[in-house]
Amino acid sequence: MARYTGPSCRLCRREGQKLFLKGDRCYTDKCAIAKRNFAPGQHGQSRKKVTEYGLQLREKQKVRRFYGISESQMTKYFNMADKMRGITGENLLKILELRLDNVVYRMGLASSRAEARQLVTHGHFLLNGVKTDIPSLLTTVGDVIQVKDRSRNSEKFKSLVENHNGNIVPWLNIDLDALKGTIVAEPTREDIDIPVEEHLIVELYSK
Ligand code: SF4
Repeated sequence: MARYTGPSCRLCRREGQKLFLKGDRCYTDKCAIAKRNFAPGQHGQSRKKVTEYGLQLREKQKVRRFYGISESQMTKYFNMADKMRGITGENLLKILELRLDNVVYRMGLASSRAEARQLVTHGHFLLNGVKTDIPSLLTTVGDVIQVKDRSRNSEKFKSLVENHNGNIVPWLNIDLDALKGTIVAEPTREDIDIPVEEHLIVELYSK
């Protein structure tokens, strides 16, 4: 399925909460959720009875939109999570957290996951010393992600470092001077700040 290219804020309004898809703007009063927190479209403000299926679907769509992934990728990740030991819903979120674009975002080297995906696609990063431009690549404990030498002095990365908020997830070790991050542990559910009830997604896929 083709990637959604419409307005990002529309997705947040559809889910009724901030998905933080536009970087810094999401923290200002220009945020569409702050201004118009109702679903887009002609019937956006009408009250509807939400079915059990509707709830499950919304949770799945929310996660897809948070991470910017397609329907087929989501199905693939769910199947992977289902085959792993442990709780399937948590496994699914862990897999998504370990995507290279998300790791770059968690390192604070992009203001949104969409920007992280673009920076990876443009070849600014090395994974374990090797240039990679695949945002969906799944990283693992011990992997080292670094901005490549030629990109390090670009205005983009200088500004990202200057404005770095210092929020670092516990499973990443960051060296901001070297623009380098190492995955030191697998993310746990407590580390993942996405407000989602993942068991509803498992129920949806288990039908
Ligand atoms: Fe969502 Fe950010 Fe747009 Fe707000 S500004 S609606 S959080 S994408």
